Amino acid sequence: MDLFEYQARDIFEKHGVPVLGGVVATTPEEARAGAEQLLGGQPGVVVVKAQVKVGGRGKAGGVKLARSADDAAEKATEILGMDIKGHTVHRVMIAAGAKIATEFYFSLLLDRAERRYLAMCSVEGGMDIEQLAVERPDALAKVAVDPRTGIDQAKADEIVAAAGFAPDIAPKVAAVLQTLWTVYRSEDATLVEVNPLVLTEDGEIVALDGKVTLDENAGFRHPEHADLEDAAAADPLEARAKEADLNYVKLDGEVGIIGNGAGLVMSTLDVVAYAGEKHGGVKPANFLDIGGGASAEIMAAGLHIILTDPQVKSVFVNVFGGITACDAVANGIVAALEILGDEENKPLVVRLDGNNVLEGRRILAEAGHPLVTIADTMDGGADKAAELAHAAA
Ligand code: GDP
Ligand code: MN
Repeated sequence: MDLFEYQARDIFEKHGVPVLGGVVATTPEEARAGAEQLLGGQPGVVVVKAQVKVGGRGKAGGVKLARSADDAAEKATEILGMDIKGHTVHRVMIAAGAKIATEFYFSLLLDRAERRYLAMCSVEGGMDIEQLAVERPDALAKVAVDPRTGIDQAKADEIVAAAGFAPDIAPKVAAVLQTLWTVYRSEDATLVEVNPLVLTEDGEIVALDGKVTLDENAGFRHPEHADLEDAAAADPLEARAKEADLNYVKLDGEVGIIGNGAGLVMSTLDVVAYAGEKHGGVKPANFLDIGGGASAEIMAAGLHIILTDPQVKSVFVNVFGGITACDAVANGIVAALEILGDEENKPLVVRLDGNNVLEGRRILAEAGHPLVTIADTMDGGADKAAELAHAAA
């Protein structure tokens, strides 16, 4: 489960990570009140920040400085309702303004392949970290972290030295990294990212942004995490998918994706992203794993969610028939299209393979739905779906 920035801020504060005051607001009036509370009648600056679970809010205009409570209300009016990469802004956080001297980067994540954690740190943080990682990878220190010892004093010193912090601030940064490890371990996180971690003009190290992913498998150890989840259901599509027991994650692209099995869906995202490079740069619009069943009801529920995403221009259904054979899946798709009726108004590419594939393809061909194209291969299907999305965009 990914947290909103304000939730990450609260968790940071609870574990002693230095953060600035922050108040959540859903209306301009609440934003004004929040700014008044933070400013305490003194002149000063607050920052109005869109709360959406996607990076690059700053560049998208979702982070704005405000010079008074009235100004904060005005900036909140601009940001609330804004669409940032397909995510509607329902809340803003009013944060105390920081006088930034330098921006750094830190993240700690699960390195599944190496069965340990990986810390990444740079003295050049801020909004262009992705670019930095690609163009000058040496400027981003990568340090393996043993789960048994975590980030203790020695490990924190090692990370800080690898990143090249100046000696006067290195110990302060190392201390903050240890508190971030406490967050990671005691909350059962799989990602803790701070960008920017800043040095203020007063010489303090502060986490100005926070991205935290919690491991839902450890939810039984954290009953308090359930509250975070309620608030997280703000994305209406993800909330609906959750209700239907579907494994759905909204992404930024134009090609809706349905598959069975997490592995197959992951690789489908890859081939669609790859095919999209030849078709105007279209990308996958979502992850949706319908699991083993692929019954008409599940297929209809999945298609319904994907088709209601206004960003979706085409859909690629990629199913491998196993215990549930392709003919059953094909019947499920045909019945789902009947359930959806006029709602199915975007081109659909279906690739079936595996058990009883010929019968499955025959059923689909016979149904002859005008918007359905049958693909023989996964690459071919991805290419067709990307082409159709580009043509409709
Ligand atoms: P992101 O773009 O989604 O990662 O959002 P951030 O929270 O990282 O904010 C983007 C940028 O806004 C940061 O890199 C800072 O440069 C700037 N920013 C955020 N908070 C403050 C603040 O309190 N004061 C100042 N001056 N700038 C801020
Ligand atoms: Mn950031």
